[in-house]
Amino acid sequence: MTNYLKEAMAIREKLSHFRREIHRKPEVGMDLPITTAFVVEQLEKHGIKAEKPIDCGVSALIEGGKPGKTLLIRADMDALPIQEDSGEEFSSEFPGKMHGCGHDMHTAILLGVAILLNKHKDELCGRVKLMWQPGEETFEGAKAMIEAGILENPKPDAALDLHVDASSEVGNLFYSKGSFTTSADNYLIKIAGRGSHGSSPQSSIDPLNVAVQIYNAIAAMRIREIAASEYLAMSICSISSGSSFNIIPDSVELRGTMRTYNPQIRDYVVKRIEEIAQQQATLFGAKASFEIAQSAPTIVNNEEMVDKVTEYLEDFGMQFETDPNFRISASDDFGYIAREIPTVMFFLGSKPEGLKNNLLHNPKVVFDEEALPVGSALLSHLASKWLCEHA
Ligand SMILES: [Zn+2]
Ligand SMILES: [Zn+2]
Repeated sequence: MTNYLKEAMAIREKLSHFRREIHRKPEVGMDLPITTAFVVEQLEKHGIKAEKPIDCGVSALIEGGKPGKTLLIRADMDALPIQEDSGEEFSSEFPGKMHGCGHDMHTAILLGVAILLNKHKDELCGRVKLMWQPGEETFEGAKAMIEAGILENPKPDAALDLHVDASSEVGNLFYSKGSFTTSADNYLIKIAGRGSHGSSPQSSIDPLNVAVQIYNAIAAMRIREIAASEYLAMSICSISSGSSFNIIPDSVELRGTMRTYNPQIRDYVVKRIEEIAQQQATLFGAKASFEIAQSAPTIVNNEEMVDKVTEYLEDFGMQFETDPNFRISASDDFGYIAREIPTVMFFLGSKPEGLKNNLLHNPKVVFDEEALPVGSALLSHLASKWLCEHA
């Protein structure tokens, strides 16, 4: 059996080079031409055929020498619209853009998986489909890759995914059985009223009044209609309207987000927010529209698959501190894949030793590059063992 950890350690410099190249040139959203070209170039350099199911998404198939199933491994490649302040010598060369969620690490880790598995493909049962997607932060990329057929020809039987964890050191591995990340729904409510002079409110249909009623009714709905034991984070984060002391505006826009692990609660609350917005508007003679602007489903780790892959950690060659009850109140569009096929997502420790307050999505966040070979080896080891056991 291949010792993937040893092999990954031997290419750590290469992985670090990949990561730094990507880190220097962060690209945001669905438009990642430089990053995509880099991934394709590296795959081809290592004799691996790359495909582009969408403009800025890459896939590659490592066909094993023995028969078996198909396992998908996914990485996201997009950066964040923030100004880097990490002090790293390979900091972002693009103002206002930064790899602050570690997707540069994910992209390099998956390139490592491609190199390692391709080298040992003769002993692989079945095949591994590798997927590099854009647009995770905007919840667009996984959906676009699925629409372009990433889950067909061949259809993956299961999938693995890994996210770096900036707040724990290398050697930590977190996962859950069942719900792992929350769903996220970012919604927009538009209220159309009628403006007037502030001295004669009776001539207006005041949309600000309607916005306040909606705000309060949503808060009351959460307290009165959802069990207190249910995890549900709801925040209205933006109310925009008006420009003066004495002009009642025509319209208001509210922007909010909701997070939960429970898909039934998610569907119920989405329906109720829309009802509340429309009924409160009607009550005061205004009109309201409601739309979900961005959405990602919860990631539910498949319990049987969690049992299997965590069993495979025993002969990995490195002892992990694990927490099988780890859940995060953040979201990831890997949820679109997790709701189609059995999946396991991990959080892999990658905080440099001794550092405090190292947080994802923060302009100062830094990562321990030791997590690169560990991540590549871990995914290669788990994939090859899962495939051989399920051949
Ligand atoms: Zn992120
Ligand atoms: Zn992320």
